[in-house]
Amino acid sequence: MPIYEFDCPGCGRTFDKRVKFSEVESVVCPLCGNRHVKKRLPTIAVKGSGGSSASSLPVSSGVSL
Ligand SMILES: [Zn+2]
Repeated sequence: MPIYEFDCPGCGRTFDKRVKFSEVESVVCPLCGNRHVKKRLPTIAVKGSGGSSASSLPVSSGVSL
């Protein structure tokens, strides 16, 4: 599984977590429990191919309580 970096708007921290891609949107902050963390873009040098949009849609998460 890849490791993603997340920004937590709740506590302002950054953490990384190893999750499946399908579980990225269900990650919670391990520091404060915030469920609305934002995945950071991978710091990989993108070779100019294809567009750059349509990958960062706003998260309209169906929060399950
Ligand atoms: Zn947090």
